[in-house]
Amino acid sequence: GNELRSQTIRQITDRKKMPPKLPSRLEELWATDVFTLTKMQACLPKDVFKSLKNTIQTGGKLDVSVAGVVAAAMKDWAISKGALYYAHVFYPMTNSTAEKHDGFISVQSDGSVISEFSGKLLVQGEPDGSSFPNGGIRSTFEARGYTAWDVTSPAYVMETDNGVTLCIPTVFISWTGEALDKKTPLLRSNAAMSKAATRLLKILGHSEVAPVNSSCGAEQEYFLVDAHFAHSRPDLLLTGRTLFGRPSAKGQQFDDHYFGVIPERVQVFMQDVEERLYRLGIPAKTRHNEVAPGQFEIAPYFEAANVASDHQQMIMTVLRNIAKKHGFVCLLHEKPFAGINGSGKHVNWSVGNPTQGNLLDPGDSPHDNLQFLLFCGAVIRGVHKYGSLLRAVVATASNDHRLGANEAPPAIISVYLGSQLEDVFEQIKQGNVQSSTPAGIMNLGVATLPEFTKDPGDRNRTSPFAFTGNRFEFRAVGSNQSVSGPLVAMNTILTDSLTWVADRLEAELAKGTSLSAASYTILKEVMEKHGAVVFGGNGYSEEWHRIAVEERGLLNLPTTADALPVLTEEYVEELFARTGVLSKPELESRFEVYAEQYIGVIEMEAKLVISMAKTVIYPAAFRYLSELSSTITNLKQIGLELEAEIASKVASLTKQMMDRVSKLSHALETHDFDTIQEHMQYCAKTIRPLMDEVRESADTLEGEVADDLWPLPKYQEMLFIK
Ligand code: ADP
Ligand code: MG
Repeated sequence: GNELRSQTIRQITDRKKMPPKLPSRLEELWATDVFTLTKMQACLPKDVFKSLKNTIQTGGKLDVSVAGVVAAAMKDWAISKGALYYAHVFYPMTNSTAEKHDGFISVQSDGSVISEFSGKLLVQGEPDGSSFPNGGIRSTFEARGYTAWDVTSPAYVMETDNGVTLCIPTVFISWTGEALDKKTPLLRSNAAMSKAATRLLKILGHSEVAPVNSSCGAEQEYFLVDAHFAHSRPDLLLTGRTLFGRPSAKGQQFDDHYFGVIPERVQVFMQDVEERLYRLGIPAKTRHNEVAPGQFEIAPYFEAANVASDHQQMIMTVLRNIAKKHGFVCLLHEKPFAGINGSGKHVNWSVGNPTQGNLLDPGDSPHDNLQFLLFCGAVIRGVHKYGSLLRAVVATASNDHRLGANEAPPAIISVYLGSQLEDVFEQIKQGNVQSSTPAGIMNLGVATLPEFTKDPGDRNRTSPFAFTGNRFEFRAVGSNQSVSGPLVAMNTILTDSLTWVADRLEAELAKGTSLSAASYTILKEVMEKHGAVVFGGNGYSEEWHRIAVEERGLLNLPTTADALPVLTEEYVEELFARTGVLSKPELESRFEVYAEQYIGVIEMEAKLVISMAKTVIYPAAFRYLSELSSTITNLKQIGLELEAEIASKVASLTKQMMDRVSKLSHALETHDFDTIQEHMQYCAKTIRPLMDEVRESADTLEGEVADDLWPLPKYQEMLFIK
């Protein structure tokens, strides 16, 4: 192969192995880097601890007077862990994590220094956040952004090359309280959902009802590529995906990677990641190979949504940082390699509380069933009414390569219930629930509603939104995304539906209807109006795409340009305003930020396509052509004739590529758009296809040009050499 490429491969195969870590006892590692409740209890005065614990566990208001004492204890603990700095960590609208670092140092009037951390510094910060996108909010309101301590997510110390930092999870808001981040709406959506759920539970006859919380367990897929390869691919470095690259002869067609043996080097990496996550109190649980070569998955055990969301951000950070240490680059992009499975993040979601448990667990007594069916019915109604919102919250330029691109899962949002549950809801809809039921479903109880066993074995991998035994699994979320947006959407549509169910129940009960009859009527209504969203078949099939749209009236929004504008629709604005999760200006600002990101990503990629085609691929083709032509000429001189077929093919492909490059360059010169929607459509319908055209010529060239002249690491090298 090419000199540089073979050198790279030698460097990789000759690399010094990282020794595997001696496994430590989990109990010794667990949460050592977290300022846990237990640690707080040990070092805080009793009343301070009680007040704090009340806020954390029941959502009571934070008593600001305790902040000073907590701050001092937190600082002492952090310093004992080697921290010199503290940071308010926040989650801007970019899917990334942001931190503002400050020293504990405080200079005294006599010039001496002490370490200091006051309650005020703990509770509120003012990062110079002007470089974070705000979608116009801060120009209309006020220029400054503030961070405020989120007591419900624990503080921790994070070790990096730059030392140890005390990290304090915070919300990021404008002076007037508008959310500028991903955490604020999540906290609000959870509070709204809790209010609606507890109201319904009381109507259902529970006297003791604790606040309801949403839970999240997110399965994170990622690729590992050796850093030597990544560093010789500008596209991987700048965009996280390969903009060029001919599929390798060996792809994933043999499915031999899935659950295969994890390569030793990757295993050492994973151990290192897990140790760090355990120290950070993140319950990493499963690890295995994914479908594509070079692809892996990590899934922590589920936790309260707010904490899980912070932990998810930390997992992405830890994966990236530890990968570096091991000579890998961790690719979290949804589609790093064309023609090979992309990466998603399955968000498992449920709601529950300490008094009634998991409200999406079918349980086994009729009374619980009734309750479960109402909660499940509420989800079905919500997904049907707001399916396009669920599509919008997973819409990014990179996720477009999965959704709507004939890959898992489809861009049409439907609900999979599993055959037993689907049957139960179908019976409810028909209004003829029978006392004897088909195999697998148990007899009816007194509540005139069927009992059934939970059925986690029954899986449909093609559904974007699937019931999986005691939770829903939202599979359309992108691997690179914050889970917060999807959780906000799910909590909010559930809030809306639970409120509707509670209103309907109250109205029915007021007429003297029994609770079970009333519930039955309401569920029947849900299925009649919203049953169209329930689908148990193959979500990838063309047939479903036709039926979904033509017969069931579901929306197919294949690109971000189609999906994001949903955020500007009136019924969505009303939903968020009514539930108090996002005001109209907040939602508008989100639309604007996400739309700008979409346009920014595509234009950046397009520019890189142009420059790589011109400065990397064209020269390689040119060199090969000059070799071929001089050989042909030389041979002619000694009377031998060599077919010029290959040379002319390479020449015409090269010309084709360069023609397409100039078409793309021209297209990028268009700047006058009336609306941002129009600009997004232009990116989706004009720029993206032109980029694909350039790639097509280049990838064909890759199959023609001499291997030793090809400058970019090839797919089979990046995917299979570790
Ligand atoms: P899969 O079969 O989808 O690959 P995994 O076992 O890899 O399943 O991941 C399932 C995820 O769902 C885990 O993070 C798990 O903790 C989470 N989970 C389990 N029960 C619940 C629940 N009630 N609510 C939310 N998440 C849950
Ligand atoms: Mg899953």
